[in-house]
Amino acid sequence: MSATASTSIPTSHTLPRHTLSHPDGRCLYVYGPLRGDLRPAETPTSPPTALHQRCDLLTGGWVAISPSRNARPQTGADVPTTPEVDRSPGCPLCPGGPEVPFSYDAAVFENRFPSLSPRPPPPPQGQDLAARSFGRCEVVLYTESHVGSLATLTPLQVARVVAVWRDRSRDLWAERRHRHVLIFENRGEEVGATLSHPHGQIYAFDRLPPLTAQRVSTLAEHRDRSQRCLSCEVVARDDRAVERTVADNDSFSVAVPYAARWPYEVHVRARRHGLRRLGDMTPCEGRDLAAALQQVVMRYDGLFGTDLSYMMVAQEAPAGADGQPQTDWHLSFEFLPPHRSATKLKVRASVETSTGLFINDTLPETSAAALAGVAVPPTSWDGIDVCDTNPA
Ligand SMILES: [Zn+2]
Ligand SMILES: [Zn+2]
Repeated sequence: MSATASTSIPTSHTLPRHTLSHPDGRCLYVYGPLRGDLRPAETPTSPPTALHQRCDLLTGGWVAISPSRNARPQTGADVPTTPEVDRSPGCPLCPGGPEVPFSYDAAVFENRFPSLSPRPPPPPQGQDLAARSFGRCEVVLYTESHVGSLATLTPLQVARVVAVWRDRSRDLWAERRHRHVLIFENRGEEVGATLSHPHGQIYAFDRLPPLTAQRVSTLAEHRDRSQRCLSCEVVARDDRAVERTVADNDSFSVAVPYAARWPYEVHVRARRHGLRRLGDMTPCEGRDLAAALQQVVMRYDGLFGTDLSYMMVAQEAPAGADGQPQTDWHLSFEFLPPHRSATKLKVRASVETSTGLFINDTLPETSAAALAGVAVPPTSWDGIDVCDTNPA
């Protein structure tokens, strides 16, 4: 295990944010120096068609219908790249592409192919169980380099990504119609990533997703019953179970969860009660989060000697009925890789897909030992700061 603990108090800097607007009205946020401007759209973007949500009467759940997403570009394994190549012709996320025509450090733009839109069209006529797909879908570019990941970015770059997430998170939670904000990354074709450029996404929803609502009610019931925070108990249990610990970290527990759903699932969970969203982090916690995330991905990539595909989700506290973040929610990042071995994928087949159950073919303690045993290169986080952002 390598230490990622805080070794010094980060110094304070600020990260400038430039807000630009694409000709089709979509926002582009550039973080750091601004090195160019947007050009008139070469290919006019048509508004998403047939975008709406349908209610499943038997569950009360909502399904987002978004046929235009089938037109998304793909530059996955079909574009040859080597570690020496930092641009990929045809990648829409590389500098010079349609999204950011100039060199950048980190950037965010509104998705050209959204599932949710701040300006959604009305649902198709005659559908009595349909609703507008209100919300927002953004793409977060970690770096201008086409090749890389949270494992290979420098500590400064990873800290900048965390600063960008925090900046966008604050803005999106501040919109009154957003009930939930979800920062996530799909890495690898196995989890549906269509672009290999290092990037993640953010969705903002106007209603709580089902699993999120279930967690909110579990936390509230526990508080009513015991007057205690259930998330604090989960952290304490993870800390006591050293056999499930993956990496050391002062501010976050980094562990395979007790009831892991996916074979190499890892949760990075805030130890401090009151750290509920990215905006609550102290400078040390910000740096510890960046270090923890890099640790996990480094271990994933060392596990089978190849870049492990994963889903990574930031779980920030949803707003309660009073509009305030849920009290007992602890900020966490959940990594959900689909692999159960170097060559085999876990597939959620009939039973799991139809019932919502999970059947894990691995023992969480065995997975944790494998991940904890991966040798990772030493990394210095001294002097690294998750900067506050400010409009340039
Ligand atoms: Zn690229
Ligand atoms: Zn707590």
